[in-house]
Amino acid sequence: MKQDFVGSLAIPRPFVPTSPKWQHSLRTAIRSEAELREFVGLPPHADGAGSGDFPVMVTREFAARMQHGDARDPLLRQVLPDAREQDDVTGFDSDPVGEDAARIAPGLLHKYHGRALVIATGACGIHCRYCFRREYPYIETSDRSQKYDRSIAAIAADDSIDEVILSGGDPLTLTDDALSMLVSKIETIAHVRRLRLHTRMPIVLPSRVTDSLVDRLRRSRLAVWWVVHTNHPKELDESTLSSLGRLVDGGFPVLNQSVLLHSINDDADTLAALNRRLMDARVMPYYLHQLDRVRGAAHFEVPESRGHELIAQLRERLPGYGVPRYVREIAGEPSKTLLVDRSMPAETSP
Ligand SMILES: *Cc1c(COP(=O)(O)O)cnc(C)c1O
Ligand code: SF4
Repeated sequence: MKQDFVGSLAIPRPFVPTSPKWQHSLRTAIRSEAELREFVGLPPHADGAGSGDFPVMVTREFAARMQHGDARDPLLRQVLPDAREQDDVTGFDSDPVGEDAARIAPGLLHKYHGRALVIATGACGIHCRYCFRREYPYIETSDRSQKYDRSIAAIAADDSIDEVILSGGDPLTLTDDALSMLVSKIETIAHVRRLRLHTRMPIVLPSRVTDSLVDRLRRSRLAVWWVVHTNHPKELDESTLSSLGRLVDGGFPVLNQSVLLHSINDDADTLAALNRRLMDARVMPYYLHQLDRVRGAAHFEVPESRGHELIAQLRERLPGYGVPRYVREIAGEPSKTLLVDRSMPAETSP
């Protein structure tokens, strides 16, 4: 056994973690309802709401932005299991957006013209209770163990694909080395021109935006776009704003998507504050999603008519570029469906 010697004293070298800080944060994230309740100062649940097959997970960095002792906190509600998840509600099922039909290789979805979406991993830095992929069969479908070779081959075989989206799960839960390996493979496919990263990590774990990651992607021949996911202005604390700033300063366009969520962001003040804060951070509001009707998420749904009202109110308060496109995903459609604001006067008819 190798040891280091200091003078005549044999001192075993202390274990020095070589992995970056963010990996430690992921490993020590909160992973049970009991732990989460204790962390935010709530009494233990009598018998626990039960997280079903979708375990609780949230980073301590994200949970620290919750109001201590407040069961109604809008960040907490996104991650704390609710007894209503067990309700069987008609219309809410396991594949609400038709992903099974769009799968062209394990871990590869090709739904929209020109864009292929790689399920880079099943892991996330947070488990959002309303997630449409909460029922996704990651285990059978991930191509990760094959080093993404089947996905890469399928993209290479279709020269109509000029944009690859890395999604998941969250691609930023992969190490810089694993991501770089995947990006390098995509870079070898001549017809791919753009790379998009769909990630919530800059929000839930800001330290994940490392200089080495930014440098690697800046050196890419691909045009790199980021799409982050934030639903409430309280998610955007100083550390998050600084991680987003590193991406923007790195020269990348950064867009945000939100999900319209009951009792979390379904009021004009919250949405206006969220989108103002994003604009201040030079992040462009992209989509406001109508909830995908996944089993267990019905209690998060906001009626579409309310969504229309909210968008109309945002238009009165924010610059045009600060108002996200209100969309829903309909299985089989060639794009996300823009929900036209029916509360506004009809367009002039001929
Ligand atoms: C949402 C989505 C995209 C991206 O759609 P954009 O409208 O270009 O943002 C691509 N592929 C799949 C499977 C999607 O669900
Ligand atoms: S981070 Fe995204 S993919 Fe992961 S649970 Fe949340 S919404 Fe779903």
